[in-house]
Parts: sequence; C-alpha cells; structure tokens
Amino acid sequence: MKYISTRGQAPRLSFEDALLAGLASDGGLYVPESWPRLSDATLRSFIGADYATVAKAVLHPFMADDVSAERLSDIVDEAYACFNHPEVAPLVALEDGHYLLELFHGPTLAFKDVAMQLLARLMDDALTRRGQRATIIGATSGDTGGAAIEAFKGRAAVDIFILYPDGRVSDVQRKQMTTLKDANVHTLAVDGTFDDCQALVKAMFNDVSFRQDMSLAGVNSINWARVMAQTVYYFTAAAKLGAPDQPVAFSVPTGNFGDIFAGYVAAQMGLPVAHLMVATNVNDILARTMDSGVYQTGDVVATSSPSMDIQVSSNFERLLFELTGRDASRVRGYMDALTQSGRFEMAGDELTLMRALFGAARIDQQQTLDVMRQVKADHHMQIDPHSAIGVGAARQAVVADGVPIVSLATAHPAKFPKAVVEAYDEQPDTPQRVVDMLTLEENFIPVANKLADVQALIRAKAQA
Ligand SMILES: *Cc1c(COP(=O)(O)O)cnc(C)c1O
Repeated sequence: MKYISTRGQAPRLSFEDALLAGLASDGGLYVPESWPRLSDATLRSFIGADYATVAKAVLHPFMADDVSAERLSDIVDEAYACFNHPEVAPLVALEDGHYLLELFHGPTLAFKDVAMQLLARLMDDALTRRGQRATIIGATSGDTGGAAIEAFKGRAAVDIFILYPDGRVSDVQRKQMTTLKDANVHTLAVDGTFDDCQALVKAMFNDVSFRQDMSLAGVNSINWARVMAQTVYYFTAAAKLGAPDQPVAFSVPTGNFGDIFAGYVAAQMGLPVAHLMVATNVNDILARTMDSGVYQTGDVVATSSPSMDIQVSSNFERLLFELTGRDASRVRGYMDALTQSGRFEMAGDELTLMRALFGAARIDQQQTLDVMRQVKADHHMQIDPHSAIGVGAARQAVVADGVPIVSLATAHPAKFPKAVVEAYDEQPDTPQRVVDMLTLEENFIPVANKLADVQALIRAKAQA
C-alpha cells in the first residue's frame, strides 16, 4: 500500500515514510492510495474476538509492505496490554438501541491513547531499524499531548515537544503533560489558543530546512497512523452488535475530525456503517458546514469540552478529498481559499454525498449538562462533557428503525473534574494513579505565540 497527499504535489510514500512524515510536503494529508476491503467472512470472524485480534486484521493491510504480520502482532499486543480493561474498548448499554463505547481505559484516560500507544511503538521501531532519530512535535487541545508524552516517554529514538494553549486545558490534562521526568519530554505552554498551537506546528513542518535539520515527525491527528488505529474500535463495537449482518450508526464527539474520519474509513473497508453523527459543542464549524456547505472559521469559544474547542478541523481535508472523487487540485483550491479568505463553499454534489452518510448536531453548554445529569439519573454513571455531547447528538440522529447507535465516550469523567462537579455536585471517581499524579511537581516551558521563539527553543533542546 502506498500513500498519496490530498493536495497531489507531494511524493507518494510507503506506510513507514508517511508515518514518519506526518504532514505531506505540499501541506496536504496522506491517505492510502486505495481502501483495503475486508470480506464479510473476516467481519464475521470479529464476533467474539478480542480487541488485539481485530486490530491485527484491520491494520495489517495498511502496512503489509513495510511491517510483517509478526511484528505488528507484537506491537499491538504491547500497545493494548497497558489498558486498564480486558476488552480495551468495552461497550455498555444506555437506553434501547443506544450504546456507549468506552474508549478511556488507557493510561491518560482519553481515547487518544488507543492510537498513540500504537503510533509510538510503530515509529520507534521504524526509526531504530533505520538507525535514525526524530523530533516529535505536536499541538494539543488537551488530550493528545498527555497521550503522546505517555506513549513516547523514554523511547530511545525520539525527543518529544508538545505545545499546549496555556490556561485552556484542565488541571488533569496539564499535569499529565508536565509531571514526567523523562529527559526526552518537553512541554511548551503557548500564550495562545489550540488553533495557534496547531498553526505553529504546521508552520514548522512547512519550514523545509527546519523540518530536515530536526528530522521532524508529527503525531497530531494529521498523522495517518492515528486515524488508522482508530478504525479498529468501529469494527469491535459493530461486531458486538451483529455486524456485518446488522448495520450500525455512530455518534462521534468531534474536533479535528480524526476520530469520525476513522469511522468513514471503516465504512470504506466494508463495515456496514449506517450513519455517522458529527457531534460538536458550540464551536460548530462542522455542523454549520453540513447545513450550508460553507466551511467558514469563526472565533474559538472556551467550553467544558476543551478537546473540541477547535475552528480549523484539519482532518476534514481527508473527507473533502473523498467527496471530490479524490480530486487533489480541487482540494488545493479549497485550502487556498481557506487560507486567503477564511472560507470555502463546497459543490452541491459533494454536499449531497456527505449528507448521505453524515449528520451533525451542535450541543451547547446547558444541553451538555442536561445529558450528563440524565445519564447519571437513568444509568447510574457519570460521563464526561465530551462523551455527553456524543450522547446528546446520538439522540438527534435520524437512523432507520432497528439500527443501533453507538456513542463514543472519548474521555473518563476524572479528566474533567470541574465539569463533573458542576453537573453532579460530587467529585468524579478518580483512579488512584491519577490521584497520585496530581501531587507531583510540574515542569513546563512558557513560550510566546511566535514561530521564531518556538523554533529556537526546539533547536536548543533536541538531540536529533
Ligand atoms: C481529541 C478529542 C476529541 C475530538 O477528536 P477528533 O479526532 O479531534 O475529532 C473528542 N473528545 C476528546 C475527549 C478528545 O480528547
């Protein structure tokens, strides 16, 4: 399998080269040249299978030229052994036909561990075999950073630099990034928003000499391997509900569009996905785009679901590439318009195609609180605000009778104690390892929202 850029002007790469590159050199995102298809017999073999077994079958076609089945098997086993639940991603029932997929049993209590634990091992393995080092840089709205640091800490072949928006992540999120002592971990508190952090990371990748000098590698959800790893739980959840004979719908709390794009990929691979619900908070650029066909950035509003406080949804470019029939020059046109005027308008046929599979709902702060309380009242469990937005959106989804809908629970409530106390007037059930972490000393480097400052800092600290 080879990988091509959504903007059509970057070299075609192997899986491992795309893994290490992150963003394509033309500013586009890498996607597989074609979608591997799994047979119904393979999908049936997933019924009753454990998570790692499904992961190996789903993931290997994407990397078969570079990574042997045996090596992938070892990497997958190791990656998911660090989860705190034997099923890795258990499915629990809410009301009739509505299920919650718990993706927060990894080391940093958010779904990003699912991809990051795999990605870090794949990267370290590729670099070590090549005798190379890399400098990982990533922007985080809160959860990616901790998950990346946890996955890459102490790995021999990498230094990791994470940029987070100062004051805009929860205490737990920040401490998951700042309390580690590993020499290869560097946490940068940027005076700006998540979009600013993401723009800095993109600019560093677009600076060719910096990228080469530092051997930059990206771990944001623009990295294909992140999306790829996330396709797996769509298969495991659907298998538990009767796929491939039973179509299944999903509701996905969405920010950068990576997680929900993984659901689209699962559908392209042959999983009967009936509907994909884009669940957003008041930062609703994706819901507005679904309504109007106009993709227009606005100001970011801080909410109780900070990991979705995003106005530039990077992975949406991958869907655009698909909706245009993989027309890279069209995608380039849209992205140029976005850079120049902050907006672009999709063609009617692209919008029709998108609406055939996707729906969208915007859940505001009060609705988020209402859903959190109602789930507790009816099902005796706390959920976090991001997961509540998924649940709220699922209830607005239009799906055929008898089609179950799965809401992705993307974070553990203990990760957002302020929101939990506001909703429930009680503290979240916090795992002991998190309680212990909260008392550790913090280490981070404050930095201005200035490209030159950030680059100078990374040049000074990286070993690559
Ligand atoms: C990152 C994140 C999201 C959004 O996922 P995307 O792939 O960026 O759409 C939702 N919920 C939580 C808890 C997250 O950490």
